[in-house]
Amino acid sequence: METMNIPYLPNTLVQQQSNMRGPGEFPCPQCFKIYKYKRSMIAHLKIECGKEPQLSCPYCPHRSKKNHHLAVHIRAIHKDII
Ligand SMILES: [Zn+2]
Ligand SMILES: [Zn+2]
Repeated sequence: METMNIPYLPNTLVQQQSNMRGPGEFPCPQCFKIYKYKRSMIAHLKIECGKEPQLSCPYCPHRSKKNHHLAVHIRAIHKDII
């Protein structure tokens, strides 16, 4: 005899849909670099945004945030020494 009253909240669905944004829509609030995913943007903000580059070139004062970039720099600039 009980009425099956399933709580149905259309508002929640609408909110979820509007939160599901497409890729490439998460700009960093500090440097405005666009990220595909919010978690990537948050990670960038915490780890690298506004921070000094951490890797330094062994041959000159050049600094880089990414190992790969430093390797490219060394190959391009210091190809005579190595
Ligand atoms: Zn940033
Ligand atoms: Zn260098």
